[in-house]
Amino acid sequence: MNIQNKKITIIGAGRSGIGAAKLAKRYGAITFVSDSGDVEGLLNSLEALKKNDIEFEIGSHSDRVYDCDLMVVSPGVPSDAETLINALSKKIKTISEVEFAASFCKGKVIAITGTNGKTTTTDLCGYLFNYCGVKTYTAGNIGLAFSEIAADIKENEFVSLEVSSFQLDLIDKFRPDVGMILNITPDHLNRYDYKVENYAASKQRIYENQKADDYIILNKDSELLMHHYKKCKSQVYYFSLSSKVENGCFFENGLIKFAINGKELFNCKRGDIFLRGEHNLQNAMSVIIAAKIYNLDNNKIIDALKNYRGVPHRLELVREINSVKFINDSKATNVDSVWYALKSFDEPIFLILGGQDKGNDYSLIEPLVIEKVKKIYAIGSSAEKVFNYFHKKVKVEIKKNLEEVINFAISETRSGDIVLLSPACASFDMFNNYEHRGDVFKQLVNQL
Ligand code: ADP
Repeated sequence: MNIQNKKITIIGAGRSGIGAAKLAKRYGAITFVSDSGDVEGLLNSLEALKKNDIEFEIGSHSDRVYDCDLMVVSPGVPSDAETLINALSKKIKTISEVEFAASFCKGKVIAITGTNGKTTTTDLCGYLFNYCGVKTYTAGNIGLAFSEIAADIKENEFVSLEVSSFQLDLIDKFRPDVGMILNITPDHLNRYDYKVENYAASKQRIYENQKADDYIILNKDSELLMHHYKKCKSQVYYFSLSSKVENGCFFENGLIKFAINGKELFNCKRGDIFLRGEHNLQNAMSVIIAAKIYNLDNNKIIDALKNYRGVPHRLELVREINSVKFINDSKATNVDSVWYALKSFDEPIFLILGGQDKGNDYSLIEPLVIEKVKKIYAIGSSAEKVFNYFHKKVKVEIKKNLEEVINFAISETRSGDIVLLSPACASFDMFNNYEHRGDVFKQLVNQL
C-alpha cells in the first residue's frame, strides 16, 4: 500500500492503534490518532505518540478525524460506532488495523478466529512452527499488535495472527494464506443485532477474499459454523472429533490423524498433546493441519505438542496441595468455555462461578455440573443468579470474594478433588480484567 503523503486517521490509541500509527508514519503518511477515552488510561500510548512525533487527540473525536484519505480502525471499536457511520456517509475508506498491517506484510499469514480458543491456538501455532524451524511471529489480539511487526516480516517467515470478529467486520481485501475458524457459539451478540447469523457471517469473512491457492481450516463439529457455511474459493480442510474427514484431522482408534484425499500423512497419540481437554485437542488439530499444509516434520510436530504448556489463565494448573489441584481458568468468560473446562476433568470439582453476567444460559452446563461438580462457590454480581439456578441441583454457597472461597475450599476439599476457577462471566464487577482475577486467584493459592 502506497501511503506516502496520504492523510491517515487512526481511531483508537490502544496497542493496535499505536502500532498502526507508527507504521503509517514510517511509510510517510500524514498521521493523526484520535481516541475518545480518558487520558489516565492511555498514558503509555501518549508517550509513544509524542516520542514518534505523531499528532493526536484524546477525550473525544473532533471533525478532524474525517479530514483523511483513509481511516484505520482499532480492534476495540465496534463497526456501528458513530465515527465510523459518519465516515461511511462521507465516503471515507475505512479498514481495520489488521488489514492495514497485512498490506505491509511479505510473509505468510495464518489468521485464526473463532468464539473460543483463539489465543491458545495462535500461541500454539507460533510455538509449533518455530519449534519446527520456521521463523513465526505471534501477533494480533495476543501480545504484539500486528502493525508493530508486519513490515519487518520477511517472505519466508510466518505470522500466527489472532483475529476477532470485530476486526473482520471492517476488512475489505484482507486475504490470509491460511484461515482458521475454530468454532462459532453465541457470544457478543449485542454487537450483532442479537442475530447469530450476523455473528457467524462476520467470522466467515476470514475467507471471503481467499483464492484457490489459499487454505481454510474449519471445525466440522461446530454446528453453527457448518450451518452458516458459505462456499469459498480456497482449499478446505476440516477437523473433527466425531467423524472421519477426507482432508484434515480426525480421531480414530485413539490416534489423531491427518489425511489428504483420504491418504494418512501424520498421526500421534492423544497423550502426545500435553494440554488437557477436548477443546485443546481441537485447537491442536487445527494447528497440525496448518503445519502439514507447509509440510513440517512429523516428529518435530509431535515434540512441540508434547512440550507446549499453554497460555496463563486457560485451565492453568496453579498448584497441587495435598493432592488437590487448583486450576485457573479465569479466561472462561462465557458458558461455552466452562462446558469445555468441565469436560476436561474426571475428578470431582469445586467450581467457582459468577462475576459480571452476560445474559448467561446455564442450561448448557447443567448436566455436566450435576455429573461432576461437588459444590459451587458463587461470587460477584451474578452470585445470586448462579445460586438461584443451581441450588436445587448441587450444593451452592455464595462467597464474598476469592479469598473467602479459597479459605473454604482448602478445608472442604479432599485428596483427588479439583478447585476450578472457571467463572462463565466477565470480571469487571470485582477486578480490572480476567488477568487480574486469575492473578488474584493464583496469589491466594500460592500463599496457602
Ligand atoms: P479466545 O482468545 O478465543 O478467548 P482462549 O484461548 O483465550 O480463547 O480461551 C478462552 C477460554 O475458552 C478458556 O477458558 C479456554 O479454556 C476455552 N477454550 C480454549 N479453546 C477452546 C475451544 N476450542 N473451544 C471451546 N473453548 C475453548
